[in-house]
Amino acid sequence: MTSQQWFDDMEAKIPRGGVRSRFAPSPTGYMHLGGMRTALYAYLIAKSLGGTFILRIEDTDQARLVEGAAEMILRTLRDAGLRYDEGPDVGGPVPPYVQSERKPLYRPYAELLCERGAAYYCFCGHVSHEERDHEDADVDDPCRALDPTEAQKRAATEPHVIRMKTPREGSTTLHDEVFGDITVENKTLDDMVLLKSDGLPTYNFANVIDDHLMGITHVLRGAEYISSAPKYTLLYDALGWKNPVYITVSSIMRDERQKLSKRLGDPTYDDLLAEGYLPGAVLNYIALLGWSPGGEREIFSLSELEGVFSISGISRSPALFDKTKLRYFNAEYIRATTAEDFAGLAEPYIRRAVHSPDADINALAELIQPRCELLTEIPEMIDFIDALPEYSTQLFVHKKSKTDERISLDMLRRLTPVLTALPDWTRGDIYAACETLAAELEAKNALVMWPLRIAVSGKAVTPGGAAEIAAVLGREESLRRIDAAIDRLQALQA
Ligand code: GLU
Repeated sequence: MTSQQWFDDMEAKIPRGGVRSRFAPSPTGYMHLGGMRTALYAYLIAKSLGGTFILRIEDTDQARLVEGAAEMILRTLRDAGLRYDEGPDVGGPVPPYVQSERKPLYRPYAELLCERGAAYYCFCGHVSHEERDHEDADVDDPCRALDPTEAQKRAATEPHVIRMKTPREGSTTLHDEVFGDITVENKTLDDMVLLKSDGLPTYNFANVIDDHLMGITHVLRGAEYISSAPKYTLLYDALGWKNPVYITVSSIMRDERQKLSKRLGDPTYDDLLAEGYLPGAVLNYIALLGWSPGGEREIFSLSELEGVFSISGISRSPALFDKTKLRYFNAEYIRATTAEDFAGLAEPYIRRAVHSPDADINALAELIQPRCELLTEIPEMIDFIDALPEYSTQLFVHKKSKTDERISLDMLRRLTPVLTALPDWTRGDIYAACETLAAELEAKNALVMWPLRIAVSGKAVTPGGAAEIAAVLGREESLRRIDAAIDRLQALQA
């Protein structure tokens, strides 16, 4: 088979028709927020246009490989609800979806480019200026001038790389949907390596070949790739291919000058989940970092985003990461979760603080849900359930409610028989009993509720009010705690 026949065969296998977008992460062991946003936008472009979302793992840089990192990407996307239609574990019409498994595909294209005079074999270990630390005089690679047939023969036995024969004249442009035309003078471009001496493609080369062979119509990527963009045009042109739509998203910034960076201590996507943020809240928040729906509304579920996302809403100005805002999103998401789902999310956190196997998880979750901003806050919110913490009787003093230790003692004494006699131990009944007592005494409710809250929780700030807490604790434990409070307050009066 001639190389042209092989080339034509490959062309025939490319899926055509419809939008095909991809997320092409390199497995580094963690998911940056920027990476997650790229994945989200690529997913949304496909879904908003009725297309296909593809996951391709770009692991050609063997030196940077991290074990288990690819699996982690699959899991992260799946857990976040970013279902890919094609990918390493789900397959698809153009496998494999992992670059290291595609190794045999790249050399024929590099050789074809040599045949066409658009690339050349290089044997001399020449280091071009982009690969050097310093920009020394830009000297042409001597192998550029080798006779192509001779060079091809030598390549069969000698170590070599294959380089692009970048034109020295003119300029090259790549059109980006967000950044417009990106043009460079060809003389400033390097003869980039396409195939390395180990036979593996360079990142840029593999990326172009794979995007084409996978029929990708929309390429979503971070701003760090913008300077290499025009080189892609040279490759597409040399191969006679039409380039896909490029959509470059601007950086996410930690402040006015610096990009968000794990090295500087900024959280990755995984860190945020570990800190108690919900995937939906993070996705919603990062969707708005660099894209605007064009209105005031901010809260969108993933499926709502699928309906409203548009490329024209992507902004070229860098976006500032604001954790306070993200926290607000998270609180909104927690509130909007169904009680049942929230109990499921909260349970592992509840269990960190409440160890009794009979604990009523649903009741505790109900207490927590309206007041919680981060799941990780939960254990501390309910640290008084298992055991009453040591507390100061000073907590019974509350200026605003005009109460103190003496009044609290009186209230708790009056409350004890009322609570003991309650037929049912429900939040509503406990609350009503407190209210009735306050009414009888012609006092404000707070005068009864405040000492009850302190007595049952030992804390001034609690999730839920006194009646809710007492209901969760149960009658026996509540009365025991009230008794203990009476003892302590009595001792003060003596
Ligand atoms: N593999 C690249 C990365 O992980 C992405 C390249 C691209 O999206 O074109 O940063």
